[in-house]
Amino acid sequence: MIKRKITKKIWLGNVAIGGGEPVIIQSMTNTLTKDVKSTIRQIKALWKLGCEVIRVAIPDEESTYSLKEITKKSPMPVIADIHFDYKLAIESIKQGAHGIRINPGNIKNREKIKEILNIAKEYNTCIRIGVNSGSLDYDLRRKYKENIHLGLVESAINYIKFFEDNDFTNIKVSLKSADVITTILAYEKFSEISDYPLHLGITEAGTELPGTIRSSIGIGYLLLKGIGDTIRVSLTAPPSKEIIVAKEILKNVGLRKLGPILISCPTCARRDIDVILLAHKVEKLLSFVKSPIKVAVMGCAVNGPGEAMDADIGIAGSKEGGIIFKKGRVFKKIKNDNELLKEFLKEIKMLDKEWQNKEES
Ligand code: SF4
Repeated sequence: MIKRKITKKIWLGNVAIGGGEPVIIQSMTNTLTKDVKSTIRQIKALWKLGCEVIRVAIPDEESTYSLKEITKKSPMPVIADIHFDYKLAIESIKQGAHGIRINPGNIKNREKIKEILNIAKEYNTCIRIGVNSGSLDYDLRRKYKENIHLGLVESAINYIKFFEDNDFTNIKVSLKSADVITTILAYEKFSEISDYPLHLGITEAGTELPGTIRSSIGIGYLLLKGIGDTIRVSLTAPPSKEIIVAKEILKNVGLRKLGPILISCPTCARRDIDVILLAHKVEKLLSFVKSPIKVAVMGCAVNGPGEAMDADIGIAGSKEGGIIFKKGRVFKKIKNDNELLKEFLKEIKMLDKEWQNKEES
C-alpha cells in the first residue's frame, strides 16, 4: 500500500487536486486551439478514453478568444498553457480557463506576474508553476551545474515565494526534465520542503515506446514513493496514447481502479495457440470492461493457468483447442477457436457485471 504525501488541496474547475484525492490524468491537445471545432472534438474523444483534465496551448491572442467556447463545451477542466506573453495569461483567465500554466523561465517581470495573480485571484483560477529544465535561468544553471535538479526546485520556490507575498496560494507545481533521474530528484527534493500539489511528467519523453518507458519509470517511481497529484505522459504520438499509458501506470502502481489489467505470456516452444494475435484480440474485447479484473492470455494449458494463478480469468491454448481458467483452475475446455473467444467474452461480461453490482450496492 502506497503512503501518499498529503498535499494542499486545490480545485481546478470541478476537479479536486491534492489533499489525498485520486491522482488525476491530464493530457494536452495537439489541434490548433483557434480551430475550436477540432479542439473540442479531440477533448471529447480524450475524455471518453479517461482523460480528466486537458491543457491547450495558447500561442496567440486568437487562441485566448477560443477558450470561451472550448471551456463551455469541454466535459473537463481546461488549462491554458502560456509561454512568454503575460497578456495571453490574463486574457485566457478572463475567457474562462480553469487554470493556467506559466513557466518561471519565460515570464520573469514581477510587475507582469503580479497582474496575472490579481486576475487569477478575481476569477479563482489556479496557476501551475511549470518549471522546465530546458528553460531554467542561466544563473541557476551555473550555480548548480551537475545538480540541476536543485536549480529546478529553487526556481519553483522563488516563484512560489513571490506568489505567496502577493497572497496567492492557488498553486500547483511541476519540475520537469527530459532526464528521468533529474526529474525524480527534483520532485523528491521539492516534496520534502513544500506541500503544494505536484503535477508529474517527464518532458519531451520521446516517441511511443521509449516515451512510455521513460514516463513509466519516472512517474511510476514517484507515485510509488507517494509523490504526485496529477500526471501527464508526454509522448510524440496521438494524445489518446498518453491516456492509455497514464491509465496503465496508475492501475499498475495500485492507485486507481481504471478497468482491467491484461497479462499475457511471452510464448515459447510450448505454445498451442497464436498468443500475440489472441492477446491483441482480447485487448480490444476488453475495451468496454469497467471492473479492475485481471485477465490472462497464455500460450499453453500445461503451464498457463499456473503461471497466471492470480488472474481472475484467463484463456490458454491446448492440444485440443483451448481452455478458460479462473484463479488457476480450469473452468471450461473448448475445441473451436471462435467458440473459445465467445465463451471467454461471456464469462468476462459476467465478472464485470458482478463487480458493477457490488460497487453499486
Ligand atoms: Fe510458454 Fe506456456 Fe509459459 Fe506461454 S504459458 S510462456 S507458452 S510455458
